[in-house]
Amino acid sequence: MLENSFALLQKPLDPKQTQKNILRRFLWMWPILMIALSIGGYFIYQYYTHKLEQGLLASENNFIATTSQLLQKEIHQQMMVLQMAAKSQIVTRYFQAETAEEEIQRGSQVAALFINLSNTFQSQDQIRLISNNGHEMVKTTYDAKLQQSAISTNLFDLNDRQYYQPVKALKPNEAYVSKMELSLHNDKIEIPHKPILRFATPVLGNDGQKVGTLMINYLAKDFLNSFRNKQRIQITGYGMLLDSLGFWLSHHDNTNEWGRDLNNPENNFEKKYPSVWKKVHEDPSGSIHSELGLFRFQSIQPFDFNDIHYFPSVKKLTIIPESIQNTNWKLVIFIPIEMIHQHSFFFKPAGLAIIFTLLFLMSALLYLLNVLYEQKHYQLEYDKRATAELTDLYENAPCGYNTLDKQGYIKRINNTLAQWLGYDKSEILDKHFSEFLTPESKTLFNNLIEALNTEQNVEGITLEVKCKNGDTFHVSLVATGIKDRNRLVIARTTVFNISDRIKLEKRLEYIANTDPLTGVKNRRYFFEKSHALFPPNTNENTPIAALMLDIDHFKSINDQYGHKVGDIVLTAFCREVEQHINEDDIFTRIGGEEFALLYHPTSPQDTVNKAEKLREAIENLTVDVKKGVNIKMTVSIGCAYQKNHHIDIDQLMQQADDALYQAKLSGRNKVALH
Ligand code: GH3
Ligand code: MG
Ligand code: MG
Repeated sequence: MLENSFALLQKPLDPKQTQKNILRRFLWMWPILMIALSIGGYFIYQYYTHKLEQGLLASENNFIATTSQLLQKEIHQQMMVLQMAAKSQIVTRYFQAETAEEEIQRGSQVAALFINLSNTFQSQDQIRLISNNGHEMVKTTYDAKLQQSAISTNLFDLNDRQYYQPVKALKPNEAYVSKMELSLHNDKIEIPHKPILRFATPVLGNDGQKVGTLMINYLAKDFLNSFRNKQRIQITGYGMLLDSLGFWLSHHDNTNEWGRDLNNPENNFEKKYPSVWKKVHEDPSGSIHSELGLFRFQSIQPFDFNDIHYFPSVKKLTIIPESIQNTNWKLVIFIPIEMIHQHSFFFKPAGLAIIFTLLFLMSALLYLLNVLYEQKHYQLEYDKRATAELTDLYENAPCGYNTLDKQGYIKRINNTLAQWLGYDKSEILDKHFSEFLTPESKTLFNNLIEALNTEQNVEGITLEVKCKNGDTFHVSLVATGIKDRNRLVIARTTVFNISDRIKLEKRLEYIANTDPLTGVKNRRYFFEKSHALFPPNTNENTPIAALMLDIDHFKSINDQYGHKVGDIVLTAFCREVEQHINEDDIFTRIGGEEFALLYHPTSPQDTVNKAEKLREAIENLTVDVKKGVNIKMTVSIGCAYQKNHHIDIDQLMQQADDALYQAKLSGRNKVALH
């Protein structure tokens, strides 16, 4: 974990990289966003277009229904006229004429009836009475310009006319309706075009036998014109009427009409829309999508008179199947794709502007999200590094850190302190801090925790810490109490390793207090210590003794063996004295070859005894300086003893010095008590 932190810290954070990251991520996310939006948009477009087309078709359905009804009414009307005329007595009586005059007279009555009918309805071009052998007997023709019908004297034999063949075969109560076609005049298409529909039914004699045929040429022009006008006004698309072969009876562009009659096979729905034709032809109704647009089609049943109740007699005529085929028309409404687009939001400039604005906004949003993400990422990375740096600073600081709970249990510790102690962190956590202290320091530490309850900071506490391997070292501790409503919650301590300082201090103290030659304490130490231990004017009850020791004739040793040997002898003297004194006794070199000993005797005699023991020891000491050189010496000792109070160390030393003088005077190698 630590290594990772270092790796992190080595790699600097680059704000420019953030900018690059934003761009890079945006550049690969943007196409994905666009694809996703396109897919979503495609489904929305499909749904919307479907709804739009349904909406457009809804109004067209109305048109289909009314057109269909209108045509049925028109056909029904012609059927009515046909039936009424065929059954009229004027017509049936015509065939019963016995004389030529009677025939002429009755013929003119028939013509008058026909003219009357034609002038009333204004929708029949010709009304004819035809004999069973195919001759026109009576014929009236309507003049559109004059809006009048008149008798026609041009009577033809119809046997060679194609349309007459099925008419000839009609049985009583059967009716024939021709294809809708352009009327001919002298075998040529009449100009202007005159679309007609022929209706025919037999005229029956009294015995119910067929005596002739009544035929009406229905003028379809008005109906077709009205259809063309209505489709232009009432519907969105184009309305067209097709015959059973797919030729247009009505087309919004009338140059396409009458392909069959005018011998223009190209002007055919099947030719223009081959992919659509099959369905239009075969199914009674439906709608078809093609790349050209939307087609809605419906079969028109001109002989379905179910909705027309007011002339029930019409039902008596049976339309022959061929006629039903002849009038198998289709009403088709075509909405070109361009027209759908005109109504579509997606193709309007405002719609496109909204779509592109949305796309732009989505792109901008994507970019913004990327910026936010990258900023967050940068911040996280920054925080991670800052944390790593802080962790590094914490863990590897040159001082120890630890966090203690209010009782002094270790809750957190840094690596430095754990390493100083020689433990794994896991061995330390949740242990009481005093477990790692020497007994003297434990008390100090407990006092410190106590103090933190009232103080904010406690500084400069020196404790002796125990390591895992048994070593100890000194630390200086700074503790800060963290409080909640004035109650200590946790304590943070900073631990400085001061073992080197302590060592140095001890070394300096040693140097300052020790005689470098002999290793015993020096004069400075002696007076400092003696004044500290026996301050003047105290009620000290313990007796004290001072011994002053001076080597006899030391000068002559120097003189005889040299100063260096004198040094060796001085050192040997000290080692020997140390053998015979207690650890607590203060033994120091006062100067030259003079030494002082301060200790607690039991009695004046004890003082003399101790001095005597030392004198004797020195007398018996032989210093092997080098091969063959053995030096002996003696020492004179002056003793002073004070039993208790009012101890003045200077006075005591003076007394000892005086006694020493006495010892010297009395011949040396002596002990004298003051
Ligand atoms: P006395 O019996 O009266 O004490 O005679 P003494 O020679 O011991 O006394 P004195 O004071 O005349 O001479 C002390 C000598 O000790 C003088 C000096 O050279 C010697 N001396 C003092 N300090 C040192 C030292 O550190 N090393 C050596 N080698 N000699 C020392
Ligand atoms: Mg001396
Ligand atoms: Mg001496």
